[in-house]
Amino acid sequence: MRALLFCFLLTISLAPAQPVQPPPPNTQTYSLPPDKLQKAVDYAHARHWLYFISQIYGVAALLAILAFGIAAKFRDWAEAASRRRFIQAIIFVPLLLLANDLLNIPFAIYGQHLELIFQQSIQSWPSWLWDWTKGELLAILLSIVLAFILYAVIRRSPARWWFYFWLASLPILFTIAFVEPFVVEPMFFKFEPLAKQHSALVTDLEKVVARGGLAIPPDRMFEMKASEKVTSINAYVTGFGASKRVVVWDTTLQKLTTPEILMVFGHEMGHYVLGHVRNSLILAALFGLLLLYAGFHVLHWLIRRWGPRWHIRGLTDWASLPALLLVASVFGFFSEPVANGYSRWQEHQADIYGLEVIHGLVPNPAAVAAHTFQVLGEEGLDEPDPNPFIEFWTFSHPSISERVAFSSSYNPWSTGTPKYVK
Ligand SMILES: [Zn+2]
Repeated sequence: MRALLFCFLLTISLAPAQPVQPPPPNTQTYSLPPDKLQKAVDYAHARHWLYFISQIYGVAALLAILAFGIAAKFRDWAEAASRRRFIQAIIFVPLLLLANDLLNIPFAIYGQHLELIFQQSIQSWPSWLWDWTKGELLAILLSIVLAFILYAVIRRSPARWWFYFWLASLPILFTIAFVEPFVVEPMFFKFEPLAKQHSALVTDLEKVVARGGLAIPPDRMFEMKASEKVTSINAYVTGFGASKRVVVWDTTLQKLTTPEILMVFGHEMGHYVLGHVRNSLILAALFGLLLLYAGFHVLHWLIRRWGPRWHIRGLTDWASLPALLLVASVFGFFSEPVANGYSRWQEHQADIYGLEVIHGLVPNPAAVAAHTFQVLGEEGLDEPDPNPFIEFWTFSHPSISERVAFSSSYNPWSTGTPKYVK
């Protein structure tokens, strides 16, 4: 797995440089006034350090839980409390998760501190802590179920548990994606139908929907009250099947003009039409299979080599769970560039779709889109010239500079061949 990724990295760095093309005549560039530019650079640097250090620390925390016998101690308590496996899971899993997440909480706190000092968040600390607690409760509930299934499968099929657990996790993954928009998200933000306070806007949005030859009924459009906690602009598509919906943050409605909101909506419609949520889920499932198969081998080796020292009796032992989390977090870290590369590609497709679907409905869509990204970048303090390695590894969206340059010069109508919306 890792060797594969290094090959991937190598191919990219060894690829011959593209000859530099002169930009098309209408190309605009993304820029920030000097004070904001300095802030954006400082904010980016602080976040990047936080990201890489917290990843390394996360691995160290799991190693500490193993090396100091903390996991083994929790297992002893769970086994002393009951002979029933499910009761043991209810005791062991929350203890382990809480220990791990409390070890990692300084980084979460520092992340929120950065959001506050760079004016990206206005959330109070008690409110933040309550969100953290709700997130923990959700993670604990889900982890109890998953860990119980995982260890039941490992005990029954020591050689093929990786495949059976993957099969068992699929319906869970799809159920979560389905219920997430109306069960999980409302625990953190308030939602209401977009038409409730913005009926004129919904009428305009329906024109965009019709232009795309699509049917997104207004009851699948929601406004999220993001402004209670954050200042940045966003919109997204979420859900799956009957729960699929478009969500626009109220900050977006406050800070953008109607044509710009139509562009943002057109982009989200691109995700909706092009089935991006479904495709990402399928890819995540396939990646999960790969991870479990590789994890199976690494984990067996790890437990053979270090098990006695960590007081782990074997893979069927609850105390092996942090070793599994360790393998998953290392794999997750090295797969980040692949997942983000795929996401950037999807986002670029959605940008193209957005530009095409508002063509003819909004005067000068290229300028509207370029200005939308300019505002998005200013509000979110995006640096105009990000480090290429950071972009490659961590960016889920193309950089704002690329999006401004691309959208301001996008004009397939001159050749008569738009990609998605004819
Ligand atoms: Zn998007």
